[in-house]
Amino acid sequence: MTSVNVKLNNGITIPALGLGTWQSPKGAVEAAVEYALTEGGYRHIDCALVYKNEEEVGRGIAKAIASGKVKREDFFVTTKVFPAYASKVEESLKESLKNLQLDYVDLLLIHWPVGLNPNGNDPLFPTRPDGSRDIDESYTVIGEWRQFEKLYKEQRDKVRAIGVSNFSVPYLENLLKEAEIVPAVNQVENHPLLPQLEIVEYCKEKGIVVEAYSPFGSTGGPLFSNAVVAELAEKYNTTPSSILVSWHLSNGRVVLPKTTTPARIVANSKVVDLSKEDSEKLNQVHVTEGKKRYAAPAWGVDLGFPDWDASGKRKTN
Ligand code: NAP
Repeated sequence: MTSVNVKLNNGITIPALGLGTWQSPKGAVEAAVEYALTEGGYRHIDCALVYKNEEEVGRGIAKAIASGKVKREDFFVTTKVFPAYASKVEESLKESLKNLQLDYVDLLLIHWPVGLNPNGNDPLFPTRPDGSRDIDESYTVIGEWRQFEKLYKEQRDKVRAIGVSNFSVPYLENLLKEAEIVPAVNQVENHPLLPQLEIVEYCKEKGIVVEAYSPFGSTGGPLFSNAVVAELAEKYNTTPSSILVSWHLSNGRVVLPKTTTPARIVANSKVVDLSKEDSEKLNQVHVTEGKKRYAAPAWGVDLGFPDWDASGKRKTN
């Protein structure tokens, strides 16, 4: 188990290992969250309204608190505002708080810098008659961020920190030109096949903590069979998941491994002290093996990533 912490730019502390909950089945996530908090030593749960399992996560949190083993102030909860709620951030937060049975979240994120029609044919994934995403053309990142700033300033009892997710360097640059409050974090896909070193470098310069999502390459954990990861697991006498998690922790990043299996919850929290040289080896895997992005939704908007276009396809440059 790890107790590595990272300081955010507003002074609050974030536990660097957080349990991911995307695609965690409703039937299993409640027990997983309770286990992670009471037995697994986790002090951070990463949630989102769009995962459609916040009620079950909330029940797991409630059971963990009722057990007397943890108090609410002992752990960190993050949730996110999905694009269909981009014009009604406060409403999204209220809904998440109700689902999670919480009075506050520690961190609220813009989930994707995109707006979807808030009055469309589906509350989360509205589509146009031709089946394409029902993009809200009037959306601006700063318009959404102003709502975050207002919430943070006026309702600090409900939100302890605000940040973003899926922001490329150009998107961060544009936001910082106008933002009053610098985001505390940028949560992005990050693993050896997509280390996004340019984002990591930029965030470091601006005091924004990087949170690594899909640290195993998402569904099925394709990175576990990567040769460099496997070789390091053998060298450090540990598991591939422990190598992948430790790589982020030794570089000051937050990491969000997802599972609902108790043994894996424990395995994923085993931290080894990676040498600088081995950490650098993992930084370079994408150079020899090529980049691979696992989360690339076709938003129909170019989000400014060098390897990925508006249709969700890889760019050629
Ligand atoms: P991930 O954590 O990279 O990988 C999860 C996969 O690895 C699951 O199939 C899981 O299977 C498997 N796994 C986990 N531990 C294992 C172990 N010790 N041995 C073998 N297999 C193992 O994937 P992710 O869910 O994409 O990313 C993690 C979290 O990041 C999410 O849950 C979410 O909280 C966050 N996220 C955020 C965004 C965003 O847009 N901000 C996007 C994606 C993800 P089992 O579950 O069956 O154990």
